[in-house]
Amino acid sequence: MTDKDQFFMREAWEYDPGAKPKPAPDAHLGFNTRALHTGFDPLKSVKDFRSFVPPITQSMTYPYERFEEIPYPVYGRTQTPTTAVLEERLAALEGGEACVTAGSGSQALFDLIFTLTRPGDNVVTSLNIYGEGYKQATAIFPERCGVDFHFVDDPADPASWDAAIDDKTKLVWVETPSNPCLFVTDIAAVADVAHAKGVPLLVDNTTATAALQKPIALGADMVLLSITKFLCGNASVLGGAVVGPEALVEDVRWNTTEFVGAVLQPFEAWLTLQFLETLSLRMERHSANAQRVAEFLAGHPRVEHVNYPGLVGHPQHELAQRQMRAGGGMLSFVAPGGMAGAGAVIDRFQLITHAVTFGTSRTICMHPPTITHEHMTPEERAKAGIDDGLIRLSVGLEDPDDLITDLDQALSG
Ligand SMILES: *Cc1c(COP(=O)(O)O)cnc(C)c1O
Repeated sequence: MTDKDQFFMREAWEYDPGAKPKPAPDAHLGFNTRALHTGFDPLKSVKDFRSFVPPITQSMTYPYERFEEIPYPVYGRTQTPTTAVLEERLAALEGGEACVTAGSGSQALFDLIFTLTRPGDNVVTSLNIYGEGYKQATAIFPERCGVDFHFVDDPADPASWDAAIDDKTKLVWVETPSNPCLFVTDIAAVADVAHAKGVPLLVDNTTATAALQKPIALGADMVLLSITKFLCGNASVLGGAVVGPEALVEDVRWNTTEFVGAVLQPFEAWLTLQFLETLSLRMERHSANAQRVAEFLAGHPRVEHVNYPGLVGHPQHELAQRQMRAGGGMLSFVAPGGMAGAGAVIDRFQLITHAVTFGTSRTICMHPPTITHEHMTPEERAKAGIDDGLIRLSVGLEDPDDLITDLDQALSG
């Protein structure tokens, strides 16, 4: 043991392609039952709380009963009783062994990559990733940690992923469907390519959620989640999570999160538990509404292009149908007249709010080229399909006719 090693509470996780994952908590129960029950049994709480709802334990330290016995959790940076319920439930919904939460989705991504890589290593991904992920990949990790990111040339072609992996690759990272252009990557095909080279696969499941897509069942080793989006569902929580093998999750928790903090707080975990109870109902309605809105936009004379995996014309429509239960609640479309044209449409919306997020119960829109993906070069934006006139639309739970009326007047204006 070197002097430095003794700081770390757990051994570093090592990817073992032959390891058999343990079944997710409550794997024998259906998705909706897990969304309501996993991690908290009201009967077992009778003695302490008499609570039907998982309680918010707003305590950041946990008393020792005896000097030699370290309590678990010991301090709020490791875990809190309320986040423990949420972590067990998210693992169960994604079908993974375990879960560690973080103060945001971006923090969860950072904690994971920081845990898995050392200077000289690299991560393979594509340009179809969300804005802060791109900033971590092009600025923070290369400049400050000596970890490089390879962007594959053609994310639709498994051979392109294969070509980008070398002997210093520690992770392959896929976001599907991607934010903001809804590019759909073949999870099973990329998993095969990564595993053949002994590299684990991370899938960002933020856009689809486990209600619509099961990356681990398709071959991914770990899942990244922004709780801030559909999991919460109304932009009242900032949070994130990593689901994956227990040894990896505990490596992240004990060797990064525990030293750094930036954890999800009990109240946010509690709110998320309430919202998860309706996740599959919401995702079904978001998808049905988005499908109607996408079809309306695709037929509108003033719309140049629509990105939505549920549209027959989407380049990966068939793959999306195989890989997802429905198209999801997010789409993007290109308004005529470039940036100024998009701005004029956005300013004419009356019901639809312009703000930075998605996955909200109320419909929300945003202009990716100037707000989230402004750090990409114009060439990279073109390659990723981020046109100057692109508007991202997160279709909410309103009556779709009202959304169509608002879109029509804003486009025609
Ligand atoms: C927003 C987002 C994240 C990051 O989540 P935050 O909670 O906002 O940090 C990660 N992945 C995707 C696909 C996202 O859209």
